Amino acid sequence: MNKTTPRKNLDALRSSLVRLQLQQLPAEARPPLQDAMQYIDKLAEVVATDAEQGSLEVLYRVSGVLGASLDLNVVLATVMDAVIELTQAERGFLMLVDPDTGKLDLRAARNLEQETIESRDMEVSRTVIHNVIETGLGVVTTDAQNDPRFAAQESVILYSLRSVMCAPLRVRDRTAGVVYLDNRAQKGLFTDKDLEMLNAFASQAAIAIDNARLYTQTDQALAERVSELETLTQIDRELNAQLDFTQVVDIARRWAVAGTGAEDGWIALLEPENPMIIVAGFDDARQTALNGALSAVVERCLSESSSQSLLPQDGSPARLVVPILYNLKPVGILVVERPESFTATAQEFLERLAGRAASAIQNARLYTAVQDANQAKTKFVSVVTHELRIPMTSIKGYTDLLKGGMVGPLTDMQSNFLDVIRNNVERMSVLVADLSDISHIETGKMKLTLASVDLGENVTQVLQTLRPRIDEKQQVLTVNLPEKLPAVNADPNRLAQVLTNLVNNASKYTDPEGKIDVCVLLEGDFIRVEVSDTGIGISAEDQKRLFTQFFRSDDPMVREQQGWGLGLNLTQRLVELMGGHIGIKSEYRKGSQFWFTVPVQKAELPREAEMP
Ligand code: ADP
Repeated sequence: MNKTTPRKNLDALRSSLVRLQLQQLPAEARPPLQDAMQYIDKLAEVVATDAEQGSLEVLYRVSGVLGASLDLNVVLATVMDAVIELTQAERGFLMLVDPDTGKLDLRAARNLEQETIESRDMEVSRTVIHNVIETGLGVVTTDAQNDPRFAAQESVILYSLRSVMCAPLRVRDRTAGVVYLDNRAQKGLFTDKDLEMLNAFASQAAIAIDNARLYTQTDQALAERVSELETLTQIDRELNAQLDFTQVVDIARRWAVAGTGAEDGWIALLEPENPMIIVAGFDDARQTALNGALSAVVERCLSESSSQSLLPQDGSPARLVVPILYNLKPVGILVVERPESFTATAQEFLERLAGRAASAIQNARLYTAVQDANQAKTKFVSVVTHELRIPMTSIKGYTDLLKGGMVGPLTDMQSNFLDVIRNNVERMSVLVADLSDISHIETGKMKLTLASVDLGENVTQVLQTLRPRIDEKQQVLTVNLPEKLPAVNADPNRLAQVLTNLVNNASKYTDPEGKIDVCVLLEGDFIRVEVSDTGIGISAEDQKRLFTQFFRSDDPMVREQQGWGLGLNLTQRLVELMGGHIGIKSEYRKGSQFWFTVPVQKAELPREAEMP
């Protein structure tokens, strides 16, 4: 439908009648001519209303589509099609102001190419557009040559062949873009009414465009944020899984490079005890840069706890220097480099990464320090225990000689003193032996000679050795050994040591005349040994810490006995080294049952196992 056709026809008819009126017409011909003129005017009104109604319908339909879409491209295309349909324009385009650069971007066009828009004969169109942008008001012109706004334009001759209309897209007091339309003169001219309609529509379209734009921006921003969060979670996961200092530094360094698009990255840390800053994983070239060209920047970064962004200069790359802050105090710096400058987003990312790396680096540092201290302790223990063995053997030997009367008869007091010495050396020997075993296990030097062992026999031998002590306390010992037992895979000496420890404790922590029971039973692929007593029992609280080094209960009945709190810790380690488990059931002041398991021997041949 072309709305100009009926209107043009009526216009033509009217001007013919006017011309007729100017002729010398007979008087009787005048009234019908007048009537005809009136009809034509009425008809023109109807045509105009009809066209307006048609436009309103288009407007209504388009508004619905606009409100329903949040896709910016869909909205722009809909707007463009609608204005063409509404105005019957020959061609047109829509431009939006880029919020970052302020430049106008062509976003939708109908029957127009980018090159045409940029060509010289569109100069006036461009002037119209800038005029609209500046004033925020729509423009319609059909006679540019006589229009003072454009008459000075060189291409006005070309332009005069055209009718141009342009309306602003206004959003919140700001012109966000323009809709431009034009028609060649012979195809019809735009009127002020057309501009009015275009203006009305443009203000509605502008809101839809703004909504879609906001949505797209929010959507993009959200997607970026989600992706950054995913990356940061991944970084957290990697950093938290590591306690090795070198690894932690390397993970942080790799992410710094990957996350900022840098070519290279490194980390330097303040030495805990002195103000030196040292490149982690020491590197001569970087350390030199740090002490030389970069020293002032690093100084500022550390003293102000603020990031420093350096532009590329005189052959040196662009650099971002970000402080690594732990508890608000700088502990080091994270540096990335590349030939081109870094963006603000890269800096934000690096700052977030530095925050995360800080605690991981500090934890790893602490862990390394603890590990070093532990190693030093183990080494010390191993040296001391070794050195103590020889003098202790000699003290024991000489005490026994004295006690045996080698140097003459002893008074009762002398004999008592020798007993005290012997007893204390005995205690020391137990401590030294246990400590030496534990340090061997910790340094991986403990070797077990696993063999096929008759556990029944092993139990019998141990009990034979311990019986005098049990008898001395007049305790009742019962043994429950099944007749047929498969051999176990164990180190016989260590197995005996485990049994000795448990039976010894049972006797030690049970009153005279109490009961001790040793029960052996087959349990699947394991043999289970239970050592039960009717002794002092262990509180639930103490049971939790029973197997830790140097643990001794505060129970006064425990403190009556001598001990170092190392036996159970060593026993547990030995049982586990042989592939078994250990556990306890106890009731305070009623008694305890310690149990452990040893795997049944599968292969026939003995073999030697080393600590992993
Ligand atoms: P120690 O006997 O030298 O103190 P252990 O490591 O053998 O060291 O035992 C650790 C602690 O466990 C003991 O100090 C004691 O509190 C408790 N304990 C061990 N065995 C028993 C037991 N049979 N009855 C009660 N308490 C025990």
